[in-house]
Amino acid sequence: MMNKTIPIRIDKTKQSRLETTNFDNLAFGQIISDHMFVAEYKDGEWQELRIEPYGPMQINPANATLHYGQSVFEGLKAYRNEKGEILVFRGDANQRRLNESARRMCIPEVPEEIFMEGMRKLLEIDKDWIPRQPGCSLYIRPFVFAADDYLGIRPSNNYKFMILTSPVGNYYSKPVAVKVETQYARAVEGGTGAAKAAGNYAGSLFPARKAQNEGYDQLLWTDGKTHQYIEESGTMNVMFVIDGKLITAPTSTGTILKGITRDSVLILAREMNMPVEERFLAVGELEEALISGKLEEAFGTGTAATVAFIRLINIHGKDYVLPEKADGAFSTRVLTQLDDIKYGRIKDEYGWIM
Ligand code: PMP
Repeated sequence: MMNKTIPIRIDKTKQSRLETTNFDNLAFGQIISDHMFVAEYKDGEWQELRIEPYGPMQINPANATLHYGQSVFEGLKAYRNEKGEILVFRGDANQRRLNESARRMCIPEVPEEIFMEGMRKLLEIDKDWIPRQPGCSLYIRPFVFAADDYLGIRPSNNYKFMILTSPVGNYYSKPVAVKVETQYARAVEGGTGAAKAAGNYAGSLFPARKAQNEGYDQLLWTDGKTHQYIEESGTMNVMFVIDGKLITAPTSTGTILKGITRDSVLILAREMNMPVEERFLAVGELEEALISGKLEEAFGTGTAATVAFIRLINIHGKDYVLPEKADGAFSTRVLTQLDDIKYGRIKDEYGWIM
């Protein structure tokens, strides 16, 4: 991580919540650590960098984010290795993606040194919030939002950049049942799907809830125009192993979030000599592969679970159950390898660990 020192004012809490926090059975995102990083964008520059106790902040009811959602965020994790050192997985990639999202939403970019030094200092202060239990980690949530109090629609002049952290439990995702969504869209070409922008998530709640009411865990999103090609799964990228080849949608259409787990899995797959096809998979081709038994594995990739195995896919109202995963399945091997890198159990040959 960077060593450039930038001035950050530090105001530590007088009443840590560490002692009263139950680190067993941590539910995702429920507990926020003692401190948060804050920076203000005013007069064309980021300033007033500080770390202060986590707590409520004052917000004017006319705040532009509340009305128009000019806001972007990131999600990454810090892990503890056997020596107790703190490892952050691919934070530089999250920093770059935050700024790609920011550009799409007319939000000023956050300089690398502010992102990195803010995160580094925050982790140093709240290091005891990184759970020691195996398989646990500290989720890191950087976000930027418009801070103007103004009801007209235009890019804000003022912004806040903040980082929160949240201890998370051993996130083993049970194999999930997914439904191919052919009515609603998460993203369209020319839209904001490639940005980690708040509104994308608000828009996906209604179709996702509908699927959950029907008994599915998540949606398999299809393209917004024809609904014939698979794009993502819930808030994860999605991959299939068909006939020994790993298939996942390309990110060139601007409708898919460029997942950092996705990128890592593709790099490891090529290293394992797994044939990789970055191309759109048609719903019809997926259905045929399910019927013929050529579909060997399907899984989501993302920071939360790393790999979430899919056990059932609903296509046009018909449920298809996936075959039992074979010994030495690709998804199991790649999950083990990624977790071993994240927890520092094997050598990081890719420069992914900070
Ligand atoms: N797609 C969407 C829509 C997401 O929100 C996420 C989670 N950030 C992902 C994919 C996976 O991205 P990553 O591997 O960087 O967590």
